[in-house]
Amino acid sequence: MIIAKTIKALQIVLDEYKQAGYTTGFCPTMGALHRGHISLIEMSRAENDKTVCSIFVNPTQFNNPDDLAKYPVTIEEDVKMLEAAGCDVLFLPTTQEMYPQGEKTLHYQLGELETLLEGFYRPGHFQGVATIVDKLLALVKPTRLYLGQKDFQQVMVVRKMMELRGHKTELKTVPTMREGDGLAMSSRNRLLDPEQRKASVIIYETLKTLKGNLAKTDVRSLEETAKQTLEKNGLRVDYVSVADAATLKPVTNFEKPAVALVAAYMGEVRLIDNILLN
Ligand code: AMP
Repeated sequence: MIIAKTIKALQIVLDEYKQAGYTTGFCPTMGALHRGHISLIEMSRAENDKTVCSIFVNPTQFNNPDDLAKYPVTIEEDVKMLEAAGCDVLFLPTTQEMYPQGEKTLHYQLGELETLLEGFYRPGHFQGVATIVDKLLALVKPTRLYLGQKDFQQVMVVRKMMELRGHKTELKTVPTMREGDGLAMSSRNRLLDPEQRKASVIIYETLKTLKGNLAKTDVRSLEETAKQTLEKNGLRVDYVSVADAATLKPVTNFEKPAVALVAAYMGEVRLIDNILLN
């Protein structure tokens, strides 16, 4: 695997790929890799000649400085995992390389995506996400971009940003990889102590129960019951929302595709998950 720490080094490899006529898949990450990230690499490898992964803990998407300070960094293990997965290029830039003019975001017209759910609870977060993915796409110009369904709203934000900016890349969504007990894999899971880790399984359990009860009662009661279950199990809930999968607005019926989304704190660790409903 080639490790490119600068834009210049990255361009040299990408130019070679372009000359050879290779298709490229791109998987942007913030590192502390787990099998969820590797499933992105695997899908990219299956669909493209070459796969590029980036690891960059993007400061502009952290609305909470403590969260940024605590974000796990495990570069050595990450490199081993990517090599084992057959990744061709790792782009590993410094903050200076990605933000030579200082850590500023551009402004994207994200509409309601910025005020609903994650947008509401993490002000500025999606402008940071849009900014870094825009910069990375402009550099890598991949044939295909791979994002995880676990970050459901993030996929919508990136799709919107790509439309706004005219990126030609095809966006592919990869299903959520889960631990054996159902907890969605996340870099943040490493910050949970063993007891918290065990208790966090209730998030996916609750989503599955909600889905199983769709026909039994109204949507708002389902959300409220789910919230209470999570709270009883020690989580501090930001939201439980049953929403239109295309707009994220709350739904009252299931005529269109819908999704149930959760964000909740286990101790200091904020966890998110979602389940498609119909
Ligand atoms: P992150 O490093 O958390 O920014 O995630 C990088 C990419 O991996 C994003 O597109 C995530 O949605 C995706 N991802 C994170 N966790 C999972 C998972 N459990 N299953 C599938 N994809 C994931």
